[in-house]
Parts: sequence; structure tokens; C-alpha cells
Amino acid sequence: MSDTYHPGPTPASDVSEDSRADYDYRSDDVERPGLVDDLEALVDGDVRFDSYSRQLYATDASAYQQLPIGVVSPRSTEDVAAVMEYCADNEIPVLPRGGGTSLAGQAVNEAVVLDFKRYMDDFLSADPDERVARAQAGITLARLNDHLDEHGLKYAPDPAWGDKSVLGGCIGNNTTGAHSLKYHKADGYVESVETVLADGTVTEFGWVDVDELDDLAGTDDLEGRIYAEVQSIIEEHTDEIEAKFPDLKRNVSGYNLDRLVKDVDERGQVNVGRLLAGSEGTLAIVTEAEVSLEPIPSETSVVLLTYDDIISAMEDVAPILEHDPAAVEVMDDILLDLARGTGQFADLVATLPEGTNSTLLVEFYAESMAEGKQKVANLLADRLPAHDAEVAPENPTSTDAPMNAVDALEAYDPGRQEKFWKMRKSGLPILLSRTGDDKHWPFVEDTAVPAENLPEYVADIQDVFDEHDTFASYYAHAGPGVLHIRPLLNIKTTDGIERMAAISDALTDLVVEYDGSISGEHGDGRARTKWNKKLYGEQLWGVFGDLKSTFDPQGLLNPGNVCGDHDPTENLRFDPEYSFDADFEPVLNWENENGFQGMTELCHGCAGCTGHQETTGGTMCPTYRATDEEITSTRGRANMLRNAMNGELPDELFTDEFVNEVLDLCIACKGCKNDCPSGVDMAKLKAEVTHEYHQREGIAFRDRLFANVETLFKLGSTFAPVSNAATSVPGTNWLLEKTIGIASERDLPSFHRQTFRKWMRSRGGSAVSEAEAGRKALLIADPYTDYTHPHVGTAAVEALEAAGVHVRVPDDVTDSGRPAFSKSMLDHARSTARENVDALAPLVADGWDVVTVEPSDAVMYQSDYQSLLAGEDVDAVAANTYGVCEYIDRFELDRNVEFDAAGESLTYHGHCQQKATRKDHHAVGVLRRAGYEVDPLDSSCCGMAGSFGYQAEHYSMSQAIGDTLFGQVDDSPGEQVVAPGASCRTQLSDYEAQHGEPPHPIERVADALASH
Ligand SMILES: Cc1cc2nc3c(=O)[nH]c(=O)nc-3n(C[C@H](O)[C@H](O)[C@H](O)COP(=O)(O)OP(=O)(O)OC[C@H]3O[C@@H](n4cnc5c(N)ncnc54)[C@H](O)[C@@H]3O)c2cc1C
Ligand code: SF4
Ligand code: SF4
Repeated sequence: MSDTYHPGPTPASDVSEDSRADYDYRSDDVERPGLVDDLEALVDGDVRFDSYSRQLYATDASAYQQLPIGVVSPRSTEDVAAVMEYCADNEIPVLPRGGGTSLAGQAVNEAVVLDFKRYMDDFLSADPDERVARAQAGITLARLNDHLDEHGLKYAPDPAWGDKSVLGGCIGNNTTGAHSLKYHKADGYVESVETVLADGTVTEFGWVDVDELDDLAGTDDLEGRIYAEVQSIIEEHTDEIEAKFPDLKRNVSGYNLDRLVKDVDERGQVNVGRLLAGSEGTLAIVTEAEVSLEPIPSETSVVLLTYDDIISAMEDVAPILEHDPAAVEVMDDILLDLARGTGQFADLVATLPEGTNSTLLVEFYAESMAEGKQKVANLLADRLPAHDAEVAPENPTSTDAPMNAVDALEAYDPGRQEKFWKMRKSGLPILLSRTGDDKHWPFVEDTAVPAENLPEYVADIQDVFDEHDTFASYYAHAGPGVLHIRPLLNIKTTDGIERMAAISDALTDLVVEYDGSISGEHGDGRARTKWNKKLYGEQLWGVFGDLKSTFDPQGLLNPGNVCGDHDPTENLRFDPEYSFDADFEPVLNWENENGFQGMTELCHGCAGCTGHQETTGGTMCPTYRATDEEITSTRGRANMLRNAMNGELPDELFTDEFVNEVLDLCIACKGCKNDCPSGVDMAKLKAEVTHEYHQREGIAFRDRLFANVETLFKLGSTFAPVSNAATSVPGTNWLLEKTIGIASERDLPSFHRQTFRKWMRSRGGSAVSEAEAGRKALLIADPYTDYTHPHVGTAAVEALEAAGVHVRVPDDVTDSGRPAFSKSMLDHARSTARENVDALAPLVADGWDVVTVEPSDAVMYQSDYQSLLAGEDVDAVAANTYGVCEYIDRFELDRNVEFDAAGESLTYHGHCQQKATRKDHHAVGVLRRAGYEVDPLDSSCCGMAGSFGYQAEHYSMSQAIGDTLFGQVDDSPGEQVVAPGASCRTQLSDYEAQHGEPPHPIERVADALASH
């Protein structure tokens, strides 16, 4: 870092240590207090049986919802054993849970939930020579792999959500990912597991020779009985297992008996730990696991093959497999159409031949790029000989299968490869963002059949969907025969539920007919347990039951799953009895979201908002990242809001506790609006509900103060420097905290008597005349720019004028209404918006552009005004408003400007709300063209979030969120940080050991002007 800005080491802000933080992530209404007292006496971890905590763990990523008895977040294996033993003594069901990303409902149950992700997430050891590692069950796969990276090794199962899901859940579901053609499922990597059995016994299951089983089965305890059962399965059912388990790389239905038989056959050994893989928490609880590792491949090469129809693509999968790819991923016409509609992929889709209906993305692993290219060339020589590959083929395998591919796009550069992969995944979010009652539900979303059966199988599925008057797209892992299929249904109707049941039944028949599995990836859970009998037949269904009752004689572990009695049409999140009543009239415009209800019900529970900065990146969700508490994730808030309006949490919505625990900590960064696959806009939901709370309970004095920041700043400026001296009197900060609740740690702003607007007037307006200008801009003097940061305004004028823009600073438009909007004072925000639109719209019609230096204001004009107001004038202002760097970049205004920044390096922290509108990258482009080297941080919200970080009770949370950014700044090679947001700059300048406030990017652009 430069002399200008030197952040110190990242402080570890601890919210739990701050007595002013008046939230504890739960409600006061504790259910079963006796049970809670008993468990609290037994464990070090958290015991939460309050109604909020129970609701938070009532859903996963599936269509199901079931209220648990309570939630325990254990801190150690001893905690887990104590809970299990207590529950066994008292016949209380138990459900181990990881990230709650399951799609079949196996992570929700009427049980005591053991939440492993909260505390039991330690990486324990790695032995690179033996290629094994050991970790606690709650570690995310991404963090596990971070620890292994330095050894050139990885834990190979790579589910798409590995940065949100954990090792215990991965074993629980026998997870794998897009590269399962090369790797095993989770079971193939289990070396040994520390487990807590159903009676609370702690034991380690690892490899034992088959001839040791007699001795192990001889002990008269639960472990002995388990070994006896395993021995009898091997002796009595091996033939049936070999006959009935489909010969697939990916089958996770039922218990993992084929792995048991294979291990006996191949190694003469059994590993009960491997039997637990895919048992969905129904047999035993995994607390730690030792897993084997794979080397990270040196290079990858990718080719995208195009087809005229989905069946042709499916026909090509089996011959492609002859070429030993690492992945073969399909994308159908529906998803291609959706990708075509996205700004990010429209250009790529446009390069596909006309009539392209489906694509197969084929990836190869290789030791060198030359080898990677060779593999692609060999594949193309067989599948599309007309294509001129980048290198000539060498001894290609010829499969003699008909050639269906129409074209091929090769990708060797990592950026292009990433774009292909991202395109494959791009349509799904749009598929999942339907705000109506018809949604693409997961219940047959991961069937698998042998690749050679895919064409007939897909054709038959189409018939089933036609018969039931629905459709789905086909995407995912065609190589191992796994298709993700989510039919569109309205399960709020009886008809929808009946069709759901009929489609599952019919698809189970089809997978049996085509030697497949009803679950090739996501497990049985509530959606598919019922079909295991049809898939495996009576004998193995009986074996599953015997295995379950041996491990869990009282039937307490995640009852109903795998071999239980779950009915897939019960305990659904939505059903015909579902009713929704917000009990108030929304005041924002929800037309684009299919009404307020549409947005409230949009979250599908995938847990995408529970990743961390270093593994997931992006913005969502900073409060979860700071706390690891479910209630501070977007999912937590969405679940709570929906349940408060559908009768699950009656009379809660407008209580102080609900507003405080559920809504108050959403810092309205809008990260979820962009990063959530469904586009859940929690900031908008919060504004709407908190506004109604204000109608009922009134508005706090401090909120009014912050909403009227412009009046305050004007006063401060008028009386400067006296006002500045007054705020620096010792004791002022203490007094402000005691009286108003402004955190005493925060420095108050310093006001300028010479405001930006005065400066503009004093220089007699723009130096570029309207006649000679290429464009004309109304540069908004927001309260920060006008009264506290006039130098940012003057820099903006300088940069715009150097770019040939005629600049006018309007006197009658200053506050955008953002401060009031962020305090959910929507009437106030609306009247400010109305005044501003009335003032700006005629000028916009006259060819003026609106330009702001404050990103949150740009977003206010560009999108929030359309939530507050309707009309062509509002749309015109929205369409013609730009952040200052966005403006320069968008219209290439700097193309003829001379800069001389001479390669100084900058670290760029973008504004969270501007990221949500995908306009954050513009500043980076402008700074680079000005001559700077720029390191754009993949950062989230800074934690200040307008006035949030000024509030005493939020100070430690604000710092905890900021810690992540401070750490990123520490690690960045940039010499100086630049940040367009005034709040971000305050947060960064309050960071200890730094020197001075970071500049706005436009200041550095102005500095770099050759004319400067
Ligand atoms: C968008 C999205 C993409 C996905 N992509 C993939 C994919 O590519 N491949 C894939 O296989 N799956 C995928 N899944 C499904 C799911 O993410 C994985 O199965 C994941 O491994 C589950 O991990 P989790 O930590 O969320 O477990 P959870 O959902 O919390 O639990 C899964 C099961 O394991 C049990 N369990 C959890 N912890 C323990 C423990 N300590 N001891 C014993 N049992 C335990 C639970 O009881 C439950 O039955 C995806 C899901 C989503 C939402
Ligand atoms: S808010 Fe979005 S990312 Fe989070 S669980 Fe819901 S749908 Fe998934
Ligand atoms: S607006 Fe920001 S803080 Fe609020 S839920 Fe969304 S990502 Fe989280």
C-alpha cells in the first residue's frame, strides 16, 4: 500500500462482545423450556427452541417444510454425543444438518436439529503423501479444498454448491458433481469416520477385513450388532444387490449397499463409514471424517458442441464418453433462450449456428494444454470431422456412431472456458425466478440412466410431460446420465399436487425400464423415499429396513427417509391449504414481481446466500458472512417473512422483536437482488414491511434524523467551522451515543462552508459551453458532495469537462431520497422522488443526462424511483441517470482525453448497490484507461451501509462486516484504495491505522488528467 493509505491488521470484531448489540438472533418465546434446560446443562453449544429458530430450520432447498422440535449447534463431538444420548433416553428424534442445501427434503424433520455448520467446521489435518485429510463434519467443501490447494490436492466430489454445503452433508447425501465421470461419489473417498451412534456411543468406522467381521460382530453392543448386520447383508443379499442396483456412476437412491459389495469384492474389506454415505442422517451421525484426495489436474480444455435438437444431443453422449472426457454437460433450448436474453451471454449464444437447439459442453483434463487441445481435436475428428480444430488430430478413436453435432466452439483460454461453464449455469436462475404460483419444483430433478439410454428416455419423459400438460428444461450432467428436470407446477392446487405425484410415479417407471435411478445426485428425502421399493424390489426394501433398525432401533435418526414412510405429497411448503395474508396494503410498486406476495414467496431455499467472501465472493449476504447465523442470511429473512404472512408465525410481523431480529440487520445492500439465483430483493421487502411498522408504531427520532441528513448537513455547513469545532469537543461522541444512539467510536462528518454548489456558482458555471459540448450533464450535488466532500464534486466537474461535457449543477435537486428510503420512510422518500422527477424530467426531455457521484443515489434514480413512483417521466429519468464513471465509460467520453497516471496502482472497492445494478465495473475501465493499474476487489458491502454503521447497537456488526473488506484491502497489491461510496470511504477511513480518507475514483481520474 502507498503512504496515503495503510490499513493495519484485520481486527476480529466480535458482535457477541458488544453489549449495545440488542439482538440475539432468536425470539423470546422458548418452546419446551424443560428440554432446553436439560440440553443446555449437557452441551457447550447453542440450544435454541424458540419459534424463530425453529422456523429458520423448517426448510431446505426442497419443496418441503417441517417445523423441527428445536435446534442445537454443537461445538464438539462430546456435545453431539450428549444430545444423542439424551434424545435416545427420551425418545426424541434427531436430525443432523449441514448447509441445508438438500433438494429432496431430507434436511427438514420434526426432530432436534444438530446444526454442524455453525461451529463444528475445523480442518484437522492433511497427509499429502498418503493423500488423505481429516476435518469436522461442518466444514464447507470449498474451505476444505482451500486447505488442500497448497499440496496440489483436492477433495474431488464437486457439487455446484460446495461453497455452501459441508462435508457431513456431502457424505450424508453421497454427493458428487459435474466431474463425476472422473471421480467417485463421496462414498469412494471415505477412509474413516468418527460417528455418534443412535445410543450416543462415539466410535470410528474405517476399513476392516471381511474375516475380522466375526470378531467385531461378536460384541454385545450397538457397534457389534451393526457389524453383524453388515456381515449378514454380505452373506445373504450380495446377488440381489448386484442384480438390482443399477450399473451407474451416479445412483444415490437407497442405502449404499452396492459400495459395500464392491469393496468386499475389490479389497476383501468393508468400511461402515462408506455405508453411511447417502444414508441421509438416518443411520448415524458423522462428526469427523478422514477422506482420500485426488491431484488437481494441470490443465483443462473445453469444447461446446451444438445440435439441432435435444435427442440428437443425447444420442451423441455415449460416443463422446469413448473419448474419456471429465465432464459432458447438456443445455437445452429453453436454457439457451434464457442465456440469449442475458447481457452476459447474448454474444456467445449469437455465435452459435442458426437453429441451435441444444449444446453439449465437453471438458477434458490434461497434463499440458497441448494434450488438452489434442483431446479436443481427436474428439472432433470423430464427432464433427468437418470442423477444423485448432490442432490436427492424432490417432483419434472412431466410434462409428452417427454424427449429429452441427458445430463446435473450442475454449482453451481460462476466461473463455469459464464463460462456457457460466453460460451452462446461467439460465437456471431465470428458471427459478418465476414469481407466480407456477414454479419449477425439484422432485424428479436428478434422475439418471445409462448414457446410451438417454435418447429414448428423454423422448419418453417428453410424453409424460405432454400428458400432464407441463414442461421442463433439460440440463446438467449428461455424461453420467444425470438430467436436471424441474417440471412447472402450481402445488398450491390439488391438481398440481396430483400431477406432481403422477409424474414422479411415471418417471420412476421409466428409470426402472431404462436401468436407471430415480436419484442420481440429490438423494431420496421426502420426495423419493417412496419410490425405493419400486426401484429395488421387496427384498432390498426389507434389507434397507433391517439395516435402519439395527443402526437405529428406536427409529430416532431422521425418521421417514430412505426406507421410511414419507409421503412425497405431504409437508410441502405450499399446498392447497396454504394461505397468505400480509395484513396491510403495500405502498411500493410490485408489478414486476407479480405483487408483493410474489416476491415474499420467491426464495426457494437453495442457501446461495450462505457462502463466504473468500469462497463464494460477490455481495450476498454480508450479515451472514459476519455472523454465520441463519437468521442473518437472505434465506433466513425470506423464510421468516413468508411464515409471518402465511400463518406459521401468527401476529409476529409487526412486533418489535420481529423487526429487530429479522429485518433490522438487513443492511439493504441489495446484494441478494443480483446474486440470488431467484433475485430475491430483500432490501425492498424490508423497506415495505418496515414502512408499515412505522405506520403502526411510529418512527424513531434517530431514524428521522438520519432521513433528514440534508437539513443537518446544511446546518453544519452554514455554521462551519464552529459546527466542526463543536463536534470535536471531548465528550460529544459519548453524549451523542447516550442521547441519540450514535456510536461513540464514529467521527462525525466535517463540514465545508464553501459548498460544491457555491464553488460551481463562483466559477460561473461550466467551463465547456453547451454549444461546444458533446453531451450535457446535470451533476447532482448530493448532501455529501455538497457539504462534506465538495472536492469530489469539483473532481467530477473537472473530469467531465475534460471529456467535453457541459456540466450544470442543479440547485433544486440535491437529496435523492435515499436516506429516507433506507430508513423505510417511504412517504418521505416518495415526495422527494416526486419533486426530483418533476425537476429533472423536463430537462431530460431536453437532452440533459443526470449524473451522480454517489452510487447509492444513482441506484435510487435508476431503479428505486420506479418502486416509489410510476410514469413515463420516472422511467425517462431512470433511463438517463448515470453514476459519473458509468457515464464516462458508457459513452466513451474519455476516448480523446490525455492522461498521465503513469501506472500507479489502485485497489478498487465498488459500492454494493451499484453492483446490484451491474454497473460497478465502469469505474475500473475508466481508471485503467486513465493509466492506473487497478485491482478490483471481489468485495461485499463495507458494513457502513448508509447510517447503519453509525448506530451504536450496530457498530460492532458494521465492523464485523467491514473486517472482511479490510482483510481484502490488506491483501491487495494496490498502493491506494479508491471507493465511490461516501459510506465506504468513511468506513475505510475509520479503520484503524490508516492514513486519510480514500478518494472517490473520479478524484483519481481528475488527478490523472494531463491538463491537471
Ligand atoms: C443449487 C444447488 C446445486 C446443487 N448441486 C449439487 C451437485 O452438483 N451435486 C450434488 O450431489 N448435489 C448437489 N446439490 C444438493 C446438495 O447441495 C448436496 O447434496 C450437498 O452435499 C448437501 O450438503 P449440505 O451440507 O447442504 O447437507 P444438508 O442438506 O444439510 O444435509 C444433507 C443430508 O445429510 C445429512 N447430514 C448432514 N450432516 C450430517 C452429519 N454430520 N452426519 C450424518 N448425516 C448428516 C442430513 O441429515 C441430510 O439428510 C445441490 C443443491 C443446490 C441447492
Ligand atoms: S434468498 Fe436466494 S440465494 Fe438465498 S436461499 Fe433464497 S433463493 Fe437461495
Ligand atoms: S439486502 Fe444485503 S444484507 Fe439484506 S438480505 Fe440482501 S444481501 Fe443480505
